[in-house]
Amino acid sequence: MTTNPTGQRPADLPERIRHWIGGELLDSADGRTFPVCDPVSNAPYATAAAGARDDVDRAVTAARAAFPAWSKLGNRERARVLYRIADAVEAREERLAALETFDSGLPITQARGQARRAAENFRYFGDVVVALGEEAFRAGDQQINYVVRSPVGVAGLITPWNTPFMLESWKLAPALASGCTLVLKPAEWTPLSASLWPEILDEAGVPAGVVNIVHGIGEEAGQALVDHPEVPLISFTGSTDTGRHIVRSSATHLKTTSMELGGKSPVVLFADADLDAALDSVVFGVFSLNGERCTAGSRVLVERPVYEEFTRRLAERAERVKVGLPADPATEVGALVHAEHYARVLEYVEIGQQEAKLVAGGARPAHLPEGNYLQPTVFADVARDARIFQEEIFGPVVAVAPFDDEAEAVELANATEYGLAAYVWTSDLKRAHRVAHAVESGMVWINSHNVRDLRTPFGGVKSSGLGREGGAHSIDFYTESKIVHVML
Ligand code: NAD
Repeated sequence: MTTNPTGQRPADLPERIRHWIGGELLDSADGRTFPVCDPVSNAPYATAAAGARDDVDRAVTAARAAFPAWSKLGNRERARVLYRIADAVEAREERLAALETFDSGLPITQARGQARRAAENFRYFGDVVVALGEEAFRAGDQQINYVVRSPVGVAGLITPWNTPFMLESWKLAPALASGCTLVLKPAEWTPLSASLWPEILDEAGVPAGVVNIVHGIGEEAGQALVDHPEVPLISFTGSTDTGRHIVRSSATHLKTTSMELGGKSPVVLFADADLDAALDSVVFGVFSLNGERCTAGSRVLVERPVYEEFTRRLAERAERVKVGLPADPATEVGALVHAEHYARVLEYVEIGQQEAKLVAGGARPAHLPEGNYLQPTVFADVARDARIFQEEIFGPVVAVAPFDDEAEAVELANATEYGLAAYVWTSDLKRAHRVAHAVESGMVWINSHNVRDLRTPFGGVKSSGLGREGGAHSIDFYTESKIVHVML
């Protein structure tokens, strides 16, 4: 294996990333593998098992065998296991962050934050199931009707390459809390951090077969999971195109699906807003996590009187963002995840130069001649029909456009196919709520950063997704409700 020329390589990297099925680390049944690269050298550092139908079959068989015992445990008992998983994740925060940073190019300080959030997901969903009640409805003295919930069975979980470990935990935690057993298919560009799950889950005492991991290419391993008749539920996070395809494939077996898809989230900034706070938030919202964030505020709509000033200040701030080696604690934007994604983002930067006015960035930083680096990039005067206004770029690139009144702001905010998140900045609270209600999105933040409250529903409208996860919504998703009617 090639060594990483920058000295960023963590110690004890595995050379081979294998499936984890029925408590055993396994190669693919047909022995095939695929190369895994890091985004700083773009050279392969390991191979991962390339899962196919047979491997998914083995994993589903193991998950089915583990289901009766796991699903029968009491909620308190399962919660205890989830708390131990949280402890085991926390105990590995540094290792986890180092692997994630190396594999995905996330700045190390942000990767640490994601590791903490992963632990929190387990603690939180442990709490949720302990507190969970079931409904009862009394119809006079005649009848009582009560709901019983049961886990759906073997859950199929398919995750993307941005913040991979955290997003895996976002699905694993509620699935396990609900009593499902599962098969996880991690993203093929970033399988490294998932190689920590076996030791974490073993340490926490999760029985063999409850969690199974099949690595591989989406169209093969992922598709086999979607097509498997014994997997009644698919929780998917990824691109809108893949989501559409999975919903179509899932129709064959009428699977329950949850789709957390792409976004092109607007920031609506009125002239009476606290511009300093809004500026900090915009910079954080689109450049943190390398801009590879589904809820990134990637379109900034600014009321005309402050448009020039805000755009100039945003460009200045973008120029000052520190782009650097992912493992350097001073780095604010690291390397984009993969050479193919980097090329796609650069293509958008080129398109943007024809469509709008480039006011910051737009190129590789001079001090980083190799690796998938891009200066934070700001385009101004972006028209609503521009591709950089309409399409998800998923990198450190932001489109800025002016508006003249509230009606135009809402119209522009809603002028894309997406509807995941939105951000509103104004000191007029009535207007803030009006705009929040009028914007087509699953989530809106008023005068605030993208800070999540795990109890709240998470998801999007239009092409950004189907269904909600988060809080009790996740438990609803991973369980079936049955109503029992009793005559008294
Ligand atoms: P992707 O759709 O290319 O891949 C996501 C996962 O799906 C990967 O594991 C991939 O292997 C798998 N896959 C691909 N084809 C498949 C198929 N035919 N059947 C089954 N599985 C298949 O997405 P990506 O490029 O990895 O992720 C980036 C996208 O994810 C962006 O659009 C981003 O907005 C979105 N995202 C959304 C959220 C959200 O919560 N809404 C969160 C994070 C990322």
